[in-house]
Amino acid sequence: MLNIVLFGPPGAGKGTQSEKIIASHSLIHISTGDLFRKHIGENTELGKLAKSYMDAGNLVPDEVVIGMVEDKIQENLKAEGFIFDGFPRTVNQAEALDTMLEKHGLSISGMIALVVPEEELKTRIKERAKTSGRIDDQDDDRINNRIQVYNKETSPVAEYYRQQGKFTSINGVGSIQDIYGKIDEAITTLEV
Ligand code: AMP
Repeated sequence: MLNIVLFGPPGAGKGTQSEKIIASHSLIHISTGDLFRKHIGENTELGKLAKSYMDAGNLVPDEVVIGMVEDKIQENLKAEGFIFDGFPRTVNQAEALDTMLEKHGLSISGMIALVVPEEELKTRIKERAKTSGRIDDQDDDRINNRIQVYNKETSPVAEYYRQQGKFTSINGVGSIQDIYGKIDEAITTLEV
């Protein structure tokens, strides 16, 4: 199985690039943000729980996220692999992911990190806000909080994979197609 963590701050292009990756590699896309938004849309208990954290740009508690991802992995054990998008976002989640994959004799093949300067992230999120309907895209306070949460709680996850020799970083500024080309090249080295 090819199991990729697509990593980067909010607005780095993880969702856009995940769509391109799954179009050419038969991987199951697990986007925890999308899963939570689906729960919110369906007004489930999980959605109600996640909503207040998400609207403020804070992280949903680890145990909630981990349980949701574990269910998705269980449902798709026959898949050719997974692309994790927006997960893991804490070192605790990264450790839990390793443990759940190990249970099935699986592991993360590699992390691909999209690097985008902070000012560019803010510009992109504000542009996305015009059409996304996402409350967390809407104002400077929420956007700044998400970037701060990323810097403090999520960026150490890169080090977790670097220590395992599984880290590749890619410049996330440029055309969608050019960035995808670099991602695809990185995936090829993982597959070898
Ligand atoms: P995203 O769509 O990846 O930008 O995620 C939107 C929001 O969902 C985040 O700001 C968090 O509130 C929540 N969320 C998504 N993934 C996670 C995660 N792995 N851990 C905690 N919260 C998450």
